Amino acid sequence: MTFDLHHHGDADVDPTDAGQLDLAVNVRRREPPEWLVARLHDGLRNLGSYPRADAATAAVAARHGRPPGEVLVTNGAAEAFTLIARALPFTRAVCIHPSFTGPEAALRDAARDVERVILPEPFGLDPALVPDDADLVVLGNPTNPTGRLHPAAAIAGLARPGRTLVVDEAFADAIPGEPESLAGCTDIPGLVVVRSLTKTWGLAGLRVGYVLAAPDLIATLAAAQPEWPVNSLALDALEACSSPEAVAWADAQARVLAEWRRDFVAALAAVPEVHVVDGGAAPFVLLRVPNGEQQRERLRDQGIVVRRGDTFPGLGPDWVRLAVVAPEQHERIVAGLRSAHAAATAVATEPRRGVARSRGTVTLVGAGPGGADLITLRGWQALHQADVVIADRLADDSLTAELRPGVELIDAGKAPGRHQLKQDEINALIVDRAAAGATVVRLKGGDPYVFGRGNEEVEVCAAAGIECVVVPGLSSVTAAPALAGVPITRRGLSQSFTVVSGHLPPGHERSQIDWERLATSTDTLVLLMAVGQLPEIVDFLLDHGRDSETPSSVIESAGTARQRLTLAPLNKLVAACEEAEIRNPAVIVVGASVAATIPNQPRP
Ligand code: SAH
Repeated sequence: MTFDLHHHGDADVDPTDAGQLDLAVNVRRREPPEWLVARLHDGLRNLGSYPRADAATAAVAARHGRPPGEVLVTNGAAEAFTLIARALPFTRAVCIHPSFTGPEAALRDAARDVERVILPEPFGLDPALVPDDADLVVLGNPTNPTGRLHPAAAIAGLARPGRTLVVDEAFADAIPGEPESLAGCTDIPGLVVVRSLTKTWGLAGLRVGYVLAAPDLIATLAAAQPEWPVNSLALDALEACSSPEAVAWADAQARVLAEWRRDFVAALAAVPEVHVVDGGAAPFVLLRVPNGEQQRERLRDQGIVVRRGDTFPGLGPDWVRLAVVAPEQHERIVAGLRSAHAAATAVATEPRRGVARSRGTVTLVGAGPGGADLITLRGWQALHQADVVIADRLADDSLTAELRPGVELIDAGKAPGRHQLKQDEINALIVDRAAAGATVVRLKGGDPYVFGRGNEEVEVCAAAGIECVVVPGLSSVTAAPALAGVPITRRGLSQSFTVVSGHLPPGHERSQIDWERLATSTDTLVLLMAVGQLPEIVDFLLDHGRDSETPSSVIESAGTARQRLTLAPLNKLVAACEEAEIRNPAVIVVGASVAATIPNQPRP
């Protein structure tokens, strides 16, 4: 029987299908935690320097209570296995299975002979099965895919003079307290522990892992590495993830995972003819199901992807491995298994239906008031993941200047008086692109929910059954005055502000605004879209009780290089605006606190 040792769970998953429930890849998170992303982001600035592994090595050494000379940082655990296969002296290599196939594949790729020791179900470690003269023995703990966590003492019992004992601990940090780990163990001769950051930290793409072993073994492996084997971002991540706080964070995650596992195993065990492997402790579960191959296909039809068991020596097509996921998903998985089982046992009379084509998504992103750096980090990330960007006139051009290659950029610019695209046309575009499967970003000036029709666009998506999320933006309501140094509140001067759309003049038949009350009911008035109606608005306010000396200001094109501030008392504001030739977009602020303005001009 041959096994595809190079098959990994990622091959079965369609990363473009957002609706797919991926239980095949054992990566705990789809992306790193935000703080780690921020750290990596900072690290980009250092890419001009060659990587130095000292700090990361020291952090790993401290984490495991070993001297730095017993640590070798590698380009993922995969590099560690390759180094072991290529650089260490041995004549009889044994891999204990069922297990992760990476080490055996690395040995074979290095043209070394490998023997297999196959543990029988329930896959507990039996040291008597390992030939005495094996001088390289490889096993995983906890073991992927069986989930078994072998006692440290049983593993230590495999050590012999002249034997290298390799323990793959890729999942050790996913178990609370890391019991049975040998990472801190310095008194077992020939022990090599391999660790990886891939699973817990959502860093599969970064490639970072490390080896813990006696200094002579570390030196032999290091000598086989190329120059600068690990990039500086990976080193940053490793240093960050080895800190006591990060280790405590991972441990807290592991505790949650352990609870999820208990619930998951109980739910799975209740499905007819599903057999769950006992004694597991890893963030995945191994199952035996009759007609495994067919069942996998049927689960896939329901959007659930599981890891096939037939590429693991010692298992076969009736085995499947499932990543432990949150309890909200358990019902879907159990129902999937039940119906897959029912379908497999029923006489097939109908051809199977195809998988529904995946739909795209829409993200409504607030671009901020102007200036490409006033968007939120979340908005920026969404923008750079989009296939289609539909942008507003108010969104800064430079924001969309460097999108991914191949992105469709649609300018829905709605300059006043020359509507490029009508709202209905924009709505239709959003739905059309998303329905075709695209990741759509609708980029809007300021905040999408402030005079921005954001809610209408979300409504249209909901009606079309398209997932739509909103990323807020800095609104010009508060950002424009702040950027210009105009306070809209101020102790002793203003304890309230009211935001008003000025696009219809006071008294207009379609205006819903009670201008009469507004004139005196609020300390500060913030007027948007009011440049065109300013004379009528100012007259009305003065006629209805606003002090003619009320300090007032106009802020044009806030946040951009064209930003400009005009200050005048209310009764002279219109004249000042005419003289300055005020242009859209502009925010007008009227109120006593404007007197405290300290003009602020963004740095170029
Ligand atoms: N959703 C936007 C507002 C859209 S209404 C937001 O939250 O900011 C359009 C009005 O916003 C303009 O008429 C103007 O009053 C104001 N505005 C938007 N960007 C501006 C900017 N950079 N400087 C000054 N005013 C701005």
